[in-house]
Amino acid sequence: MNNKHTPQVISPDSHSISLSAVSSTAINIVEELKSAGYEAHLVGGCVRDLLLGRTPKDFDIATDAQPEEIKSLFRGCRLIGRRFRLAHVRRNGETIEVATFRAALSDDDDVDDDRIRITDHGQVLRDNVYGSREDDVLRRDFTINALYFDPHDQSVLDFVGGMIDLEKQVIRTIGDPLERLREDPVRMLRAVRFAAKLQFDIDPDVIAATAELAPLLHHVPPARMLDEVIKLFHGGDALRTYDMLREYGLFRYLFPFTEQCLDAIMPNLPSLALANTDSRIKVGKPVIPAFLFACLLWDPLQADVHKLRDGGMDVRRAWSVAASDALRDQAQHVAIPRRFMIVIKDIWALQPQLEQRSPKNINRLLAHKRFRAAYDLLLLRTEVKEISPEIAQWWTQIQEASQQERDSMIRGLRASAPKRGRRRKRKSRAA
Ligand code: ATP
Ligand code: MG
Repeated sequence: MNNKHTPQVISPDSHSISLSAVSSTAINIVEELKSAGYEAHLVGGCVRDLLLGRTPKDFDIATDAQPEEIKSLFRGCRLIGRRFRLAHVRRNGETIEVATFRAALSDDDDVDDDRIRITDHGQVLRDNVYGSREDDVLRRDFTINALYFDPHDQSVLDFVGGMIDLEKQVIRTIGDPLERLREDPVRMLRAVRFAAKLQFDIDPDVIAATAELAPLLHHVPPARMLDEVIKLFHGGDALRTYDMLREYGLFRYLFPFTEQCLDAIMPNLPSLALANTDSRIKVGKPVIPAFLFACLLWDPLQADVHKLRDGGMDVRRAWSVAASDALRDQAQHVAIPRRFMIVIKDIWALQPQLEQRSPKNINRLLAHKRFRAAYDLLLLRTEVKEISPEIAQWWTQIQEASQQERDSMIRGLRASAPKRGRRRKRKSRAA
């Protein structure tokens, strides 16, 4: 690691960032901050991704201007966040995050006031102590996320060996992994997220610290876990991320009930659901967290339904009680907003109905707002051989059919209904 006051300066001819790959809105905001007399750099994921020749998801700026000062400089600026107070500048349909340089916390900082809050487990819940650019470098999580780019002279500043780690393709914490992961256990999830996304290795010391500190994830507020779960699984590399989360013993802190139900038979429903999410993202189709939750919690839900049925509860009630319980229990770990819960329950409630194919229900099911999501889960369940392929094929076919063909398929169900349906019961009763 370099001395923190002497960054390595990488000149434009020694790195691969081309200004044309940088958002002109972000460049302008940096320039305007500088004209107002502040320091400003592009920083974090965007510099990392630009250096790797990847398209950044968004552009973050770090500056020595304080949030209120940033707000007074830019129209369309909103201050957000409690844990991290920062500015969102909206311009040209883009939102650029502008954050004030922060300092790492020192030992005498463990006070509980507006700026800082540290828990008994050593976690930093609020972190709003401002500092210099050098301070700002050291409070970042990984070396590859702590590179600063000045669009004006196009130099990259590296205080912590981030360039070497980019080259070595390794995720390494800035400073002692035990200390840095204890301070914010979500960094363990972030390490996996970046490793999966960039196909980098995680530094062995970080892996060892993760094995020790993973249980600290229990103490992370569920709302923050939800944000992270969405980033982990909606980033386009969900399957690889999931495999790594399992490999490093982290998945159980996100979805403990799912973990308990996982068996050795591959592919299992969670991995199919995540692969499905990845392929949807690849072709630009929308993805919703509720679908992921519905899939990931499907097996624990089934286990609960069986338990309640074994205890003598009728089917409908067992489903409804198990659904509420599964969501309530899961939400202790990863928050599930009410609006997601409603969708998840719909997707679940549609499963037995899709399996039954009761002729009078077909048109209603096809028109149901959650039909597509429920059908997608049905397909995954077919893939793990939970239900017969014939049922899924029938639903695939009816969606592609004209109304006339649909009517005929529904008549076909009616024709075969006596074999399974009420009429036979009545007959046998009469007999
Ligand atoms: P992505 O491509 O997913 O946006 P990113 O690196 O930009 O990746 P963000 O979550 O947007 O990740 O965070 C921006 C930067 O802020 C990071 O690169 C890192 O320097 C810093 N950062 C974010 N979260 C943390 C954290 N929990 N601890 C320390 N530094 C963090
Ligand atoms: Mg980012």
